[in-house]
Formats: sequence, C-alpha cells, structure tokens
Amino acid sequence: MRSARSFSVSTLVPASLLCAAALTSGCHSSLLARFHHAKAAPAENARPKVAAAPAQSLPMLPVDFTKVQPNEAGLVPILEYHDLVMTAKTTGYQYPVAAFRQDIQWLYDHNYRPVSLDDYVNGKIDVPAGMSPVILTFDDALRGQFNYTTDGKIDPNCAVGILDDFHAKHPDWPLKGTFFVLTNVGTTLPPPFYQKAYAQGKMDYLIKDGFEVGNHTIHHLIGMRHWPDARVEAELAGAVANIHSYLPSYNVDTLALPYGVFPKNKKLVISGSSGGQAYRNICALKAGADPAASPMGKDFYGHPFDPYYIPRIIPGAGKYTIRYWLDLMEKDKNLKYVSDGDPNTFTVSAIAKGQMNLPRLQKAHLHLRVYNGTQVSSTT
Ligand SMILES: [Zn+2]
Repeated sequence: MRSARSFSVSTLVPASLLCAAALTSGCHSSLLARFHHAKAAPAENARPKVAAAPAQSLPMLPVDFTKVQPNEAGLVPILEYHDLVMTAKTTGYQYPVAAFRQDIQWLYDHNYRPVSLDDYVNGKIDVPAGMSPVILTFDDALRGQFNYTTDGKIDPNCAVGILDDFHAKHPDWPLKGTFFVLTNVGTTLPPPFYQKAYAQGKMDYLIKDGFEVGNHTIHHLIGMRHWPDARVEAELAGAVANIHSYLPSYNVDTLALPYGVFPKNKKLVISGSSGGQAYRNICALKAGADPAASPMGKDFYGHPFDPYYIPRIIPGAGKYTIRYWLDLMEKDKNLKYVSDGDPNTFTVSAIAKGQMNLPRLQKAHLHLRVYNGTQVSSTT
C-alpha cells in the first residue's frame, strides 16, 4: 500500500510549483528590490480575519538594540517535506534521511527555532530575541515521517524519531510542526503513516508530542480547480471527519492544498460543510516555492500577507528549494525575519517600516516598534 501512494504522489509535479518557479525565474533581483523598497502598506483588503486576537494589547517588552537588530518584516521559511528515505539522493518527493538531519542541524546552528503554524498565522511568533522562526510541515502521512520498527519502537530514522532525538539533545528546539495527513477509516486508502496497527497511536502521539495535524483533503486529487463547490466541500469536510475518527475533539483548522491547486471558488478553503461536518480554516498553504511573508508584513511581490495563500519551500538542491532560499536569506540579512523576543510586538528598522501592515497589527492588538541604530524612533 505504501508504494502505491508514494508512487502516485511522487510522479506528479505540483503545478503551482512550476508556476511559482517560472514566475520568479529571471526576475529575482527586481523582486528583491521591490521587497526592500515597497511603499507603505495599503489599507487591508477584504480578506477574512484569522485570529482570535486578545481583547487588548499586552505590554511591550524592552529590547537591547546593542545586542539584537530585530527584523520582524522579514521572510519566514515554511519547509514542506514528504517522505524520508534511507538513500543518498533526492528523488521526487523522497528525501534522504541524512539530508533531513543536516537541515535540522543547519537551522539550529543558524538560530532558527520552530514555531507552530497557528502561532505564525496569528502573528504570535514567540522565539528568543535574535532568533528566527521556521515552520516544519509534512504532507501525505507517509511512512518515512512516522514509522515503528518491528520491535515496536519509533524508528530513529523517521521524521518524528529524528525530531524527538534532536529535541532531547537540544531542549531549546521545541517540538513543533504540522502533519498534513491523509487518513482512512475504511479499506480503500491506506491508514495514516501506512502501518494500520499503529495508526491510532501515531495520531495520538503527534498531538501529545506538540505537533499539529492539518487537512490535506480525502483523496489527494489534482483537479480541484474544475470541481463544483459541493465536491470541494465534500473533500475538505470529509477530511476533517476522517481526522476526527482518530482525534474526535481535535480542531482541524489548517489546510494544505494537494499540489497547491486551489478550488475555483476560493472562499471554500476558508469554510464550508458537507455531510453534517463543518470546517473552518485559519490558513491555506500552497506547494511551493518561496519563503512566506512576515504575518504582519508583505511578501516578495509587495502583497500583504495572505493567510489563505501561504507559500512553502520544498527540499532539494535546485533553485527555489530549501537550500537556495536559506542560503540567500543568510547572505542578505534584510530578508530574514529576526525576532525581538517579544511576541506582542513587531519590531522593525526605520527602512523596513513600509513593509508592515498597520491595520492588521492593530486588529491583532499587537504593537509596532520602529528603531534607528540603537534608538527606538516610534512605537504604536
Ligand atoms: Zn500531498
């Protein structure tokens, strides 16, 4: 069963990935220039609200600008993994275990710390001052993500085993990440993570460990943009019902579209219902191929952060992959989100002030602090 689904997923190239790559190809420097020099944020458009914001602003915490130069207008990498395998080479969606280990170590060494997707979308980025957020996502509930060995132990070479071990050795690397699962309660599709006897235990373990579970539809089909509304809602609501068959009280509120393909009626990624099951998502994720915007800022293209159109980055060595973007964000520090250590405040340099979305900050009851050198020049 494992090979059947792995094959069908790995042989198709995400359409959105190709589009995104084509879009960025050849005009990269101009996009970067626009990122640096974009004008002040326009009033927030009619996009739906996301967060349960606090009723009022919480106090602003001090920052020592002689030690930290925060950039909370910067980009946030959302990494999109599929299967992990014991090979040396990346093939389609199969990524070497050794490379995954290297990614995690590299992120740690370069001061990235994981945050949950929910916290990111809600603008509650809580990492220490000087650190940068990263979001880990895993699609399709493949066995290399979460596997038990024949002696009933968590496989040290699956994603969960690797992250558990890394957290044990580095307690300041929290166990956060989202598994966009495919589930089945009958016999026509494989159970999540492809070991039927362990399926329930794995779903329970993920939540207990600190991870999140998200919606990836029931059938993982590519043609959603051509479907009638009722069929889209049946896929999205049905996936929630299937997750509830394992986790009855779990709030499934994040969505990753298979292949990054959105329905024609984009409102259906936000909410809908089918067969007595309602759903409401706080975000919808694409399949590639850029780092994501600051949740209170703008993306590469000058658009305000859109929770229902969030890009991710796939692993590999080519253009627009994890390696490509992370290296670029090291070279150009203006691109990288660097935290002020205060989850209630977004702190940016005077140059980056125009990147921020003031109405969205106000709605979320978050402060904006602007600094010049080592001095605060304004706060709101
Ligand atoms: Zn998928």
